[in-house]
Amino acid sequence: MASTPDGLPPLRDVVATHGLAPKKALGQNFLFDLNLTAKIARAAGPLDGFTVFEIGPGPGGLTRALLAQGATRVVAIERDARCLPALAQIAAHYPGRLDVMEGDALQIDLAAIADGAPARIVANLPYNVGTQLLINWLTADPEHPFWSSMTLMFQKEVGQRIVAAPGSNHYGRLGVLAGWLTHSEILFDVPPQAFTPPPKVTSSVVGLEPLPQRLPCALSKLEHVTQAAFGQRRKMLRQSLKPLGGEALLNRVGIDPARRAETLSVAEFCALAQAL
Ligand code: SAM
Repeated sequence: MASTPDGLPPLRDVVATHGLAPKKALGQNFLFDLNLTAKIARAAGPLDGFTVFEIGPGPGGLTRALLAQGATRVVAIERDARCLPALAQIAAHYPGRLDVMEGDALQIDLAAIADGAPARIVANLPYNVGTQLLINWLTADPEHPFWSSMTLMFQKEVGQRIVAAPGSNHYGRLGVLAGWLTHSEILFDVPPQAFTPPPKVTSSVVGLEPLPQRLPCALSKLEHVTQAAFGQRRKMLRQSLKPLGGEALLNRVGIDPARRAETLSVAEFCALAQAL
């Protein structure tokens, strides 16, 4: 058997032993390259002293990297029960440091599990629920995020939407939300052939950290404004924001009603939300 840095079996062997044929419906595109999983874990920053949440550990490549990198505790949430025996083997190798939960991450309250301990979220996310998971974590408690950082793999196009600045074609509701609450950047891209099976598109690892201070703004109002503005992104704001007060609202905050949604800064969206 080939050797690995942590002494656990190579991931291809794990998948074969436990019969983990990838399921498309669960977004299963596995990473077998331990150098790449180590690179993602390093990109998350120091892990000592942190509870690290990993969504979708699968056969455990990234899980192993997080533990090898010194994570004090990893909480791994996996929907596919077939993966549990492989993950139990990793838990036995790192006694007391890996908790595996079987379940749907969309339904699990990570903040309650963290219970005030410093937390990071690191994951190669299932693409079908990745954006919704990010929105859940961003909006759980915008004033007091339970996470110190998120290091997440998305389809590249989603990553571009998260980090998009005004004026970019990718700028939209997700970019405003992420820009209001975080500093975010694309850390590196990962080509399709790094995964088994390879997805159709390139992926990106995105890093997000909470801004030390956020512009005052109510989340529900910000969502109202961005939904209306980007719902008709080619229209002038006097038209797209008509249901919310249109020209009068825009004049109140000194924004030219002839501008379009994608030209507004996050601060301008927050000003509009405040004026609602
Ligand atoms: N971390 C592994 C890796 O990098 O090789 C697997 C990543 S794979 C892209 C996504 C993983 O998320 C799969 O193991 C899949 O079973 C799991 N998954 C899919 N939907 C999920 C959900 N709603 N909650 C928790 N896990 C989920």
